[in-house]
Amino acid sequence: MAERVKHAHTIFENCQLCPRRCGVNRKKGDRGFCRAPVRVVVFGSQPHFGEEMSLVGHNGSGTIFFSNCNLRCIFCQNWPISHEGRGKEISDEELADMMMNLQKIGCHNINLVTPTHVMPNILNATRIALTRGLRLPLAYNTSGYERSEMLKILDGIVDIYLPDMKYMDVDKAAKYSAGASDYPEVTKKAIIEMNRQVGELALDKRGIATRGLMIRHLVMPNRVAGTEKFVRWVAETLPRSTYVNIMAQYHVEYKAFDHPEISRGITAQEFLEAMAWAEKYGLTNLDPQSVAVRNFYQHRRSN
Ligand code: SF4
Repeated sequence: MAERVKHAHTIFENCQLCPRRCGVNRKKGDRGFCRAPVRVVVFGSQPHFGEEMSLVGHNGSGTIFFSNCNLRCIFCQNWPISHEGRGKEISDEELADMMMNLQKIGCHNINLVTPTHVMPNILNATRIALTRGLRLPLAYNTSGYERSEMLKILDGIVDIYLPDMKYMDVDKAAKYSAGASDYPEVTKKAIIEMNRQVGELALDKRGIATRGLMIRHLVMPNRVAGTEKFVRWVAETLPRSTYVNIMAQYHVEYKAFDHPEISRGITAQEFLEAMAWAEKYGLTNLDPQSVAVRNFYQHRRSN
């Protein structure tokens, strides 16, 4: 673990942590696309009850929100945190304290939100927390815009991978996520690596996630997210029992108002067609809440 922390920290000197590969020396104070310093900036940590049921359980998911982001979507719901970097700079020891506090108050996991650009700090804080008795699963809650080479450093340390798959189309990725036209390709590779490391979702007898891959896909208006291609890719590439959360909660945020294609919420029909594609391609482990939303829309339509 100490060797991995050392290796990860050297990456800051010529930052290649994510596919932007800025090459800046964050140890000397330079900042790249994500605008993150070398010390971790945290907006807050708390039990969170808005995540998937298998993460929330009874006591909540122990969420740590990292400031700054390497993707910076124009429809980001957390834009004051991810785009403007609001938060407090803390040491890796203080980050370890946060993890231990979330464990102490009974959370079921440590949910690391937007972790990509601070992976070395997380690794070091985890090393410290492990010496203090951390035993909760680590959930890596990411936009998916990850280099699989960097994920390999986390092999055996992260228990639950929670990646988004936002787009399947290079033009949409470039347009809505700050020029990241490689998003579909690199995220597919990253998810394959995550699956190799942790495999299918495993739950304990209370129904709480202990290990595995949980993919999130937000349905966007006007088929911007490429949902049919996404579910087909999952069905052809990963086990069909891979956990997939097809999410209905897109809402217009931040600069999305300036783009007519994404300046409205999705319709019931758009969500129903997304769920129908998931069934058509044979996905068998859809998030229970997304199934409930589909059933609700179907019921409303038939009455
Ligand atoms: S983590 Fe930040 S500085 Fe490093 S490559 Fe990515 S965007 Fe650039």
